[in-house]
Amino acid sequence: MRKVFCIGELLIDFVAENQGSNLSRAQQFTRKAGGAPANVAAAISKLGGQSAFIGCVGEDPFGTFLQHTLESQGADTRYLQRSSTFTTMAFVSIAEDGERDFVFSRGADRELKYLPSVKEDFKGNLIHLGAATALLGGPLEAAYNHYFFDALTCGAFISFDPNFRQDLWKNREADFVKKCTPFIEKANLCKFSLEEAQLLSGAEDTMEACNLLHQKGVEIIVVTLGKDGTLLSMGERKTVVPSIPVKAVDTTGAGDAFIGCLLQQLARTDNPLQVGQDFDALASMVRVANAAGALTTTGFGAIESLPDRQQLQQALA
Ligand code: ADP
Repeated sequence: MRKVFCIGELLIDFVAENQGSNLSRAQQFTRKAGGAPANVAAAISKLGGQSAFIGCVGEDPFGTFLQHTLESQGADTRYLQRSSTFTTMAFVSIAEDGERDFVFSRGADRELKYLPSVKEDFKGNLIHLGAATALLGGPLEAAYNHYFFDALTCGAFISFDPNFRQDLWKNREADFVKKCTPFIEKANLCKFSLEEAQLLSGAEDTMEACNLLHQKGVEIIVVTLGKDGTLLSMGERKTVVPSIPVKAVDTTGAGDAFIGCLLQQLARTDNPLQVGQDFDALASMVRVANAAGALTTTGFGAIESLPDRQQLQQALA
């Protein structure tokens, strides 16, 4: 079985308990492991695949908690780095008007170092790049670009998720689009939300957006559409793959479970680089990944509500 290396941020989300209030009034917070690429690594391992996480946390109790959380899901943490800077934290509350009130305390995730020795381990494997904080500058961005280059030059299958966070790119959207371009040009697979596909292509219409994004270079595009499933686009061929009906209570991590499940299936094929030639095979993998996304919405939190293989098989039966 091939391994999926997930690169990006791992952080603590402090979620305000008294939702409906803004952060200035929030008094109680629940600590959750967060960071989209880390969720993807957890999703892959929980489904029985092999994953490794490359990122940086602090040499503090929060960093230890995050490392243990990933390990408890079966993800390989040997590439996890620890820095003397405090672990990155995000404080979140949903205010009365539905707007997210958000404070980001950026710490150790920014400090990821590039280690040339990792390239050897990339060979024959899959690399998933999640970009939420990786393109914000600093050592992480430099390391991330190096790892991307290594993945390209050793011929690994590359997956990219821009993970656009409005809070982090206020008034700098054009910069975000520019920084994502090389990844869209060179990745084998890109996962977008509808909003991301529109932002990154500059087109409102979903089909047109996909076509413009394909023109940049990416062969396989999946656009996640919440309860409506996923649009799979491979050049001329496009289809919306429906999801399964569920009672959703919290959509956090659904996209990460989806892409994790898709990558876990790709890792089991003889040659993931050739899957782009088989539209129907990919569509059936997307169907399974939709169910993984759907199941994640039925519980609170991201990692806590990821399905295991048995739960996934039951939901598909
Ligand atoms: P993202 O985090 O990328 O915005 P989505 O919320 O669209 O992700 O969820 C990812 C996938 O999970 C969707 O493409 C869909 O297949 C599935 N999913 C999400 N929400 C639901 C839901 N309410 N009902 C059924 N499936 C869902």
